[in-house]
Amino acid sequence: MLNSAREPAAVPTVCHWVGGKAQGGTADRGGDVFNPSTGRVTARVPFASAEELNACVAVAQAAFAGWAGTPPLRRSRILFRFRQLLEEAGDQLAAVISREHGKTLSDARGEIVRGLEVVEFACGIPDLIKGEYNENVGTGVDAYSIRQPLGVVAGITPFNFPAMVPLWMFPVALACGNTFILKPSERDPSASALMAELLQKAGLPDGVFNVLHGDRAAVEGLLQHPDIAAISFVGSTPVARVVHREGTLHGKRVQALGGAKNHMVILPDADLDDAVEALLGAAYGSAGERCMAISVAVAVGDACADRLIERLAPRVTALRVGPPTDAGTEMGPLITGEHRRKVCDYIAGGVDEGARLLVDGRPGYQDAPGGFFLGGSLFDRVQPQMRIYKEEIFGPVLGIVRVPDLDAAIRLINTHPYANGTAVFTRSGAAARAFTSAIEVGMVGVNVPLPVPVAFHSFGGWRNSLFGDHHIYGREGVRFYTRLKAITQRWPRELDKKAEFAMPTMK
Ligand code: NAD
Repeated sequence: MLNSAREPAAVPTVCHWVGGKAQGGTADRGGDVFNPSTGRVTARVPFASAEELNACVAVAQAAFAGWAGTPPLRRSRILFRFRQLLEEAGDQLAAVISREHGKTLSDARGEIVRGLEVVEFACGIPDLIKGEYNENVGTGVDAYSIRQPLGVVAGITPFNFPAMVPLWMFPVALACGNTFILKPSERDPSASALMAELLQKAGLPDGVFNVLHGDRAAVEGLLQHPDIAAISFVGSTPVARVVHREGTLHGKRVQALGGAKNHMVILPDADLDDAVEALLGAAYGSAGERCMAISVAVAVGDACADRLIERLAPRVTALRVGPPTDAGTEMGPLITGEHRRKVCDYIAGGVDEGARLLVDGRPGYQDAPGGFFLGGSLFDRVQPQMRIYKEEIFGPVLGIVRVPDLDAAIRLINTHPYANGTAVFTRSGAAARAFTSAIEVGMVGVNVPLPVPVAFHSFGGWRNSLFGDHHIYGREGVRFYTRLKAITQRWPRELDKKAEFAMPTMK
């Protein structure tokens, strides 16, 4: 890693959590956890060996029957207590997230609140998991369906939401009666350890929720393990594609959410001040390291683009970059020095390809020692064939694409390989309706720049932003983490003992 200083003697080890106990790990492989604000190593994370992985799956498997047999109302009560404990631990958890990820404390608190919403949703499991019933589908015959848990399910999560993304998964999975193994990002693993402790305090039986740290090898181990029934993955598209392919090849149910390139369309009739504020937060919040970050502003008409730039460029130049714990900071550092280099390479590439760099976030930061900070960058006249348009940069870089009309904006967005989120800013209901109807993207905002669905709707993109059939959390989550069983029953007063050789029909 770039700009790092190791303090091996001083750093603690982040432990696995298996069977209700913290375990330091026995493997020689492991990784450094950085504080991106200082560039210093703050902890060491062990990478699970194959034996540790097998032992963890066995623990989760052993806990399954008891947990699946626990009445949903009792499972819900444990989640209610977890919700309370999580809220009480909010400041502590936000500090852990901010220290390892680099996002501001207010942003870290925001992700916890969005995660809490999913816990609140999952508390409604007795109602959510209800089946359907038909009396008398045939004479004296009733039919009903129930949803049952899958078994041991695993969640593999990215660095950018170390609490929220795991919370998209495990509250619903546990509520449905599954046992869970979380493989968090090795870059900011401590939030998951804290959540594991809170679940135990809430009364969750040991072995029902486990945390296993690791990198690619651990993911491959989970994908191949015969006792893992399903995998929820959130991360970059190349890995999501492999996880979906390998997981399904090994007979698992898989939902794999990938990367993004989210467009925000600004129509000439939009409230431009509102659009500028929205763009600033959505493009540069969390240093652009959000899968729903807006990375392309699609300005409809040159006049609209020029007026937008007039207001936006000075604000991007003035973004307050600094330590996430400082009250005035708007943008903290990037996750690693390596990632900052990658983002700087994209900026240089954009200039080489002919885009107009209006604000350059590199000077003063690019090679600075210490933290992995980078200023905000703004490009105009970005063209669809450029790499800065086609690829996910995942940093504080916004590109403006100029189009002549709304139809051209829709065509542009519908042909991009990513289709996670998008937004339109306008005062016209008709234009907004045309946009929401024709746009081929999973999550759409109308004058809302980051349309992350609330917990009782589900989250998911289209095309290269999601592989699998189910979106995550909400009712889609309940469907993903359960399987349907249909039961047809008959309790005849007098048994009809005559065999029937024709296909049974309801008489
Ligand atoms: P990543 O794909 O590098 O890592 C995600 C997880 O996969 C981590 O747990 C990591 O250990 C593991 N992993 C990494 N490389 C692997 C490999 N070769 N084989 C198997 N496992 C591997 O993603 P990241 O850098 O941690 O997170 C950023 C990415 O996640 C961005 O692309 C972002 O758009 C995406 N993301 C998507 C969503 C969404 O909901 N669609 C949400 C958050 C983040």
